[in-house]
Amino acid sequence: MAKQRSLVLITVDCLRADHVGFLGYERPTTPFLDELAAKSCVFTEALATGSPTYYSFPGILASRYPLALGRENIGLSPGESTLATRLKQAGYRTAAFTAGNPYLSDRFGYHTGFDHFEDFSQSLKSTGSAAPPVAGKITFFNRRIAKACHKLPPLGAAYDEAYFRYTSWKVLNSHSIDELRPYSSADKVVNRASSWLEQGRDSPFFLWLHFMDAHAPYLPAREALNQMGTPFDGRRIRYLNLWWNRHDLKASSFSAHVGDVMYLYDAGIRWVDSQIQRLTNQLRALQLWDNCVLALTADHGEEFLDHGGRFHKTSSLAQELIHVPLLIREPGMSSQAANTPFSLLNLAPTLLDSLEVGAPNSFRGKSYWSEKTERDSIAISECVANCNNPYLKGKRVGPRLLALRLRQHKLVFDFESSTDRLFDLERDPRELHPLPRDHSKPIRCRLLEAARKHLAEAANSNADLKIASRVRGLPLQTSRQLEVPKACPSPALIEVPV
Ligand SMILES: [Zn+2]
Repeated sequence: MAKQRSLVLITVDCLRADHVGFLGYERPTTPFLDELAAKSCVFTEALATGSPTYYSFPGILASRYPLALGRENIGLSPGESTLATRLKQAGYRTAAFTAGNPYLSDRFGYHTGFDHFEDFSQSLKSTGSAAPPVAGKITFFNRRIAKACHKLPPLGAAYDEAYFRYTSWKVLNSHSIDELRPYSSADKVVNRASSWLEQGRDSPFFLWLHFMDAHAPYLPAREALNQMGTPFDGRRIRYLNLWWNRHDLKASSFSAHVGDVMYLYDAGIRWVDSQIQRLTNQLRALQLWDNCVLALTADHGEEFLDHGGRFHKTSSLAQELIHVPLLIREPGMSSQAANTPFSLLNLAPTLLDSLEVGAPNSFRGKSYWSEKTERDSIAISECVANCNNPYLKGKRVGPRLLALRLRQHKLVFDFESSTDRLFDLERDPRELHPLPRDHSKPIRCRLLEAARKHLAEAANSNADLKIASRVRGLPLQTSRQLEVPKACPSPALIEVPV
């Protein structure tokens, strides 16, 4: 009888599909993954079920739409079946190492089903304590001056520029790149995972790694910058990050350095690529690789002014935010490509199928390998518009944003304005020109009907899990300890949505 296969799931925060080599990116961000892709199934149209992190991971790990348990629920519900709980039940050793994303913590149920769960929050706290003096009394004092200055617009702009230069000077002179990085670097995550792999090699395992190196602030390892041929020194890197995070400039001003910022982002991806190579080397050394399924994907993408935005704000489900890379490698597999829209809702059942483990009944997705799976179904993504801080009740209960994707068309429904926009992504891949309302009516009707059905199902199902998650969510409204962690030591670098 063949030995039970193991599973490694790698998720990279903020990794856009169009910035990996195996999906056509011209810069050398992913040389190792490109090699791996030649022995994998590559999904060229993989779509997150939502954005950002907290609206994406319920789809990845629990095969469930993010708002299916109501807007009050952030994260996984107590008692909810996930990839980890199913594999633990099937006798797997399970471990997760997530590089400090506060939404992927035990607070939101992500530890469930893991024998060993490490979210590196300790390193996050220690970095935060290194805050420079500008985060203290001077900031309070400056706020009062700012308020006075902004009563007169030209004076306000002058104040903003002076304050930016002051905070830049503080950070540029006080901190190294390594001190400023608010998340654990991929090499540290791989080191911990490698140690765990060395224990108990006889039983099958499920290992989940989540990397934050492509997340803002973009502070890549020097080695990755050198590999990418990026000539910036530490001072330039710090300046670019501070400047990219300015809130006082017009959107059009940011195009001046967007290329340089993207170089930094790309170097972060290169660093992840090299660390995944290290991990697979370790799997080979431990003689685990030949029986291992590996999947790589992202929770969402990142904005570089594609539609005027930066980072990954929750006011959009544009392609740069929901189109993510996905490859699945099985032992002995030759190159395959899946070119139809593939919702990450289907990822967990597909991976269980690769392991020949049955999926829980609660999973809404279907295995890609199954003959019965309809390969041209509609992929749905959703989020609460402008919910950039789900710790606040007022932000969690805002209007829904819904995107429905067919092979060629995409409908985006904004419940705040009650408007829908239909795009033809073959003719308009950058999603810039909505089709006229009288255009493609049958497609619009089909997608609107799918939206209606989706909303009806969300309203009428999962009663037990909804109650469980509501009870778990109560402290969100009351505990002072649950403020958003100030992960980044500079006031000019905080308030970046995860
Ligand atoms: Zn994320």
